[in-house]
Amino acid sequence: MSQRTLDGDNRLNLAAHWMPFTANRQFKAAPRLLVSAKDMHYTSHDGRQVMDGTAGLWCVNAGHARPRIVEAVQKAVATLDYAPAFQFGHPGAFELASRLADMMPGDLDHVFFTNSGSESVDTALKIALAYHRARGDSARTRLIGRERGYHGVGFGGISVGGIVSNRKTFGPLLPGVDHLPHTYSLEHQAFSRGEPEWGAHLADDLERIVALHDASTIAAVIVEPMAGSTGVLPPPKGYLKRLREITEKHGILLIFDEVITGFGRLGTPFAVDCFGVQPDLVTTAKGLTNGTQPMGAVFASGRVHDAFMQGPEHLIELFHGYTYSAHPVATAAALASLDTYQEEGLFQRVAELAPIWEESAHALKGLPHVKDIRNLGLVAGIELESRPGEVGKRAYEVMVRCYEAGLMIRVTGDIIALSPPFIITQGQIAELFDTLATAIKATP
Ligand code: PMP
Repeated sequence: MSQRTLDGDNRLNLAAHWMPFTANRQFKAAPRLLVSAKDMHYTSHDGRQVMDGTAGLWCVNAGHARPRIVEAVQKAVATLDYAPAFQFGHPGAFELASRLADMMPGDLDHVFFTNSGSESVDTALKIALAYHRARGDSARTRLIGRERGYHGVGFGGISVGGIVSNRKTFGPLLPGVDHLPHTYSLEHQAFSRGEPEWGAHLADDLERIVALHDASTIAAVIVEPMAGSTGVLPPPKGYLKRLREITEKHGILLIFDEVITGFGRLGTPFAVDCFGVQPDLVTTAKGLTNGTQPMGAVFASGRVHDAFMQGPEHLIELFHGYTYSAHPVATAAALASLDTYQEEGLFQRVAELAPIWEESAHALKGLPHVKDIRNLGLVAGIELESRPGEVGKRAYEVMVRCYEAGLMIRVTGDIIALSPPFIITQGQIAELFDTLATAIKATP
């Protein structure tokens, strides 16, 4: 057994923890451990303040250790530490579902609780399949995702997802899945601000898939309104509307994966508000509890939900759920997070900061190796040229330099993704981009 230890602390053995989505051997040779967090900053194991440029993993939208959320979690665990979600309930779950339904526009008024984004995605895909069957349309079994889509790591999510490395080592995946083309083009969209002008027509590819398989075999299309994890790809203007029109025309359900865009990231409560397009199902997680407890939620429209509420009343309508669905502690964290967002006007704050954020991000244009810059709401993607034969290495080195200089960023391939907590100040935005610019300049 490996006995690698952290410098200066021979009690901590790093061998046993097999880290997710991490180059384990590289990490354990030079670990980056975080020991506490408050507001905009982490404290590292070597006692340094590190600005959180990514809201954890796009989840700590209101900043870290917010007292209201901390107190709610402490109180909840002492009052009702657990309650089964099957055939029993607790009041908080119903209160939270009602509040979420009120926040979401249109008739996406029914909320199914999960514990993560991946579970929300698999839940939404299963609801879509079961919806058609409940209506006697059982030939509708095909699912359509998109290239460069990220929908978590469940078998459903990786099947509809479009990231080769997440798919290629895991077998044949779900049958009957097609992919729309991704919406990114360096040629037509380079350095565009917000939603690119070019690309709405890419939604028409859905007509090709419909022509190939016939609409009567297709259950649902799932897309992220703004692809986040694959490098910040805001949707082309009009693209999502077109996708809605085509799905509607053919009786295909449209699922928005709002695990990143939900809870204010684009300056509106959901991307549904931001783009004015109403899907049939919406998946969320992350910001729901401000990252403090694992929790996700799937929103279903009245039409979808009501298709299940048929038949004898004593029968279970959907054979699906999790031991920790609507967990009381997570529920309390979510209610306190929604209170915090609302009382501090944090979604509005994102909308106000967005123009400054956009200017600051695009000011990096012209730095060495910067190939493209994209932004929307409080999100930015800065794409670097890859070194030949070493995809991802340059951005990784920038990430390490930033961390050493006191800034956490996230990289995917050679794309840097930034998504800070909404409490970031204008001064901190300037500091974030200064640190990043210095790291980019120092990286060959
Ligand atoms: N969908 C999207 C759009 C995501 O960004 C993510 C996580 N980054 C997921 C699903 C999966 O969420 P989780 O890691 O909580 O399973």
